[in-house]
Amino acid sequence: MSNFVDSLMEQVKEKNQAEPEFVQAVEEVANSLDIVLSKNPRYISAKILERIVEPERVIMFRVPWIDDKGEVQVNRGFRVQMNSAIGPYKGGLRFHPSVNLGVLKFLAFEQVFKNALTTLPLGGGKGGSDFNPKGKTDNEVMRFCHSFMNELQHHIGQFTDIPAGDIGVGGREIGYLFGQYKKIKNEFVGVLTGKGAGWGGSQVRPQATGYGVVYFAAEMLKTKNKTLGGKKCLISGSGNVAQHVAEKILDLGGKPITLSDSSGFILDEAGITREKLLFVKDLKNNRRGRIKEYTDKYKSAIYTPVDNSATNNPIWDNKADCAYPCATQNEINEKDANNLIKNGIYLVCEGANMPTVAAGVDIFKAEKILYGPSKAANAGGVAVSGLEMSQNSGRIYWESEEVDKKLQEIMKNIHTTCIETAKKYGTPDDYANGANIAGFLKIADAMLDQGVV
Ligand code: NDP
Repeated sequence: MSNFVDSLMEQVKEKNQAEPEFVQAVEEVANSLDIVLSKNPRYISAKILERIVEPERVIMFRVPWIDDKGEVQVNRGFRVQMNSAIGPYKGGLRFHPSVNLGVLKFLAFEQVFKNALTTLPLGGGKGGSDFNPKGKTDNEVMRFCHSFMNELQHHIGQFTDIPAGDIGVGGREIGYLFGQYKKIKNEFVGVLTGKGAGWGGSQVRPQATGYGVVYFAAEMLKTKNKTLGGKKCLISGSGNVAQHVAEKILDLGGKPITLSDSSGFILDEAGITREKLLFVKDLKNNRRGRIKEYTDKYKSAIYTPVDNSATNNPIWDNKADCAYPCATQNEINEKDANNLIKNGIYLVCEGANMPTVAAGVDIFKAEKILYGPSKAANAGGVAVSGLEMSQNSGRIYWESEEVDKKLQEIMKNIHTTCIETAKKYGTPDDYANGANIAGFLKIADAMLDQGVV
């Protein structure tokens, strides 16, 4: 690391001591930027990096709501408006008990670079709450969402900040949030993405993140003259992203063999077929059950509970060709990364945001496997959110085929940008460097053009 990046990281660590995920995300980007900064000292004199690591605005608020027993509950809500240099803030809302300011700042920071890579005019933001939707009734979730929007509506708007879903926020939650925004503002506008297809949502938005991840993986494999056909794939998670990664792997002839939730994972060596995937969708999206139930129905599968205090996650200790972490941040630690290599994995494509710890990424790079970092590989979701915004403001509607075609083009372009940028800056085949540098250049140049704001 250069002296400049060293001293920047010291400042970032000092100022954000209680935010390890945010520091990790900044360090990962900063480490890629040495060569860019030495070639373009004006980024240093204009203090672009010092500005990029400070959110433009953070809103933190009380979310009081009443549960089904009539008791008052209080949660904490947030919106981190990170960077609007290239467009209005855009990024998801996460409802999970682990949500805090540091987690949302890391996600917002990643989002800034990811959105820049899509080539769409989208700034970066992220928000959410420590509310846990698990075990809550639909009415409780509705009352929580309405209360959350009572405050959030002051800070968002179709030209200002357009939230979407993330962990714990799917179609049901977006519906309740949109309903309350419309009620308060008396306007029907595209202020949220991931809406229902019958009321302003885009075709393919629910599928877009997962499909995009697999399109990106297919592009990576193509550089080695390989395809997904017949490849055994480990997938973690069983939510929106994991389900659609599995679906697209099946479309392209691959064989998904694992899925997980926060309690454990299932290994089905016979393959998770379309029929089995439909069962998982119903289990997770409608009945909101646990993945363990899969083994009651399909005897070919084995369930392994996951002990979160263990030194490694056993899902990554299975033989396969490709791995798609699609649950949450830091779900692949150093030992898991070594296990993946030991088990013959030659492609890791990240559906979750920052699922691999820094030491794990170093192992993938040292082993020269195909490693698709989240900010590039999972950008398909926000890209189709951008297409949803275009359809809303143009009052137009695109069929599934058209949106899917645009998604494929965007993922292909992101792949090309990563490869070309990595090569240009002397680190060929390093997708992480390519993504960080390309995203940074777009934002940094816009910030230079706009002066010190
Ligand atoms: P969902 O809420 O639909 O699913 C999340 C899945 O991950 C569930 O299976 C959940 O298990 C599991 N999970 C969540 N937290 C943990 C944890 N701490 N430990 C182990 N497992 C966990 O979320 P999404 O599928 O939308 O999001 C998954 C990842 O993809 C996140 O990192 C998100 O930021 C990222 N992402 C999502 C996008 C989107 O469009 N939705 C866009 C880009 C990135 P359980 O059911 O037990 O909670």
